[in-house]
Amino acid sequence: MSTTDAPIPARTVRRAVVTGGAGFLGSHLCTELRRREVEVVCLDNFLTGSAANIEHLVGDPGFRLVQCDMTDYVHVPGDVDLVLHFASPASPIDYLKLPIHTLKVGSIGTNHALGLAKDKGARFVLASTSEVYGDPQVHPQPESYWGHVNPVGPRGVYDEAKRYAEALTVAYRAEHGVDTAIVRIFNTFGPRMRPFDGRAIPTFIRQALAGEPLTVAGDGSQTRSVCYVSDLVRGILALADSGHSGPMNIGNPHELSVLRIAEDVLAATGSASSLEFVGRPVDDPQVRRPDTTLAAEVLGWAPEVAWEEGLRRTVEWFRTALEASAAPAAH
Ligand code: NAD
Repeated sequence: MSTTDAPIPARTVRRAVVTGGAGFLGSHLCTELRRREVEVVCLDNFLTGSAANIEHLVGDPGFRLVQCDMTDYVHVPGDVDLVLHFASPASPIDYLKLPIHTLKVGSIGTNHALGLAKDKGARFVLASTSEVYGDPQVHPQPESYWGHVNPVGPRGVYDEAKRYAEALTVAYRAEHGVDTAIVRIFNTFGPRMRPFDGRAIPTFIRQALAGEPLTVAGDGSQTRSVCYVSDLVRGILALADSGHSGPMNIGNPHELSVLRIAEDVLAATGSASSLEFVGRPVDDPQVRRPDTTLAAEVLGWAPEVAWEEGLRRTVEWFRTALEASAAPAAH
């Protein structure tokens, strides 16, 4: 084990900063941290997140929202024990629309978040991604796999931003002794995903509930391993508490074909929609499955929410959210 990998003893977290805290994952992290009575400062510019995701926390004296852009210098007054850096466009539809911003928040934004952790003597956790493995040639993917990424393909802006962010995180640990960790997050689903974010599960649910055909990319044989959001949040906070540097995969190894996901969405929604097979996006990975041995060994972590149960909860949330957005506004 090199010095940069040496675990640093866990510390008590009283106050945490969550960048991207108004997004899908960030808002679930803020909620869980508040449940654990950790004070939370949420930094977000609402580029792809929304006030609705954190409205249940507004007014809570232990929660503070600061609207700011991580590509600008950020100052957070007071002590901070933990920085969770989640700010970044994350769905392909967003980062293909915002390629330069995605690279900037992954590089300059990560530099600012690391600088904040350094100033405060806080632990730092980078939200990295299974996309650092690209279209993998090793299956399932252990953390030791270096990946198969096309830097000049359309997805390169996201994949390379995250690979750079990982390298910068390791450099801050080596050069400045910042207590860092890297979590490689695999596909996650659950309430608060946006119906039009372009990812397969929310797209299928929205289409199924609207009685529209479900648009399956290619023949649907490509696989995804999808983790329910509460399992992911538990894993991330266990890594934050552990003192381990990572990189560590957190994701559900239960692998499903995209066709099976579409069929299960039809069953879970009771929809009579048809399936429509459409073209595959460029550089779309054929397979994806985390090797979670490290998370099991170090954190004792394993996913607990079965796919069918997670899907049921997600469909229920989407049904309510879509009905509320379709309802005429009250006067
Ligand atoms: P999201 O788009 O819902 O959330 C990202 C949040 O970051 C949004 O609230 C957005 O407004 C904010 N943001 C973007 N640029 C910013 C900037 N410059 N300054 C301040 N805030 C900014 O995405 P998500 O799915 O919640 O993903 C969160 C993080 O987790 C991302 O870093 C993503 O790369 C990573 N991740 C997510 C998944 C997944 O399955 N959802 C998988 C792998 C990695």
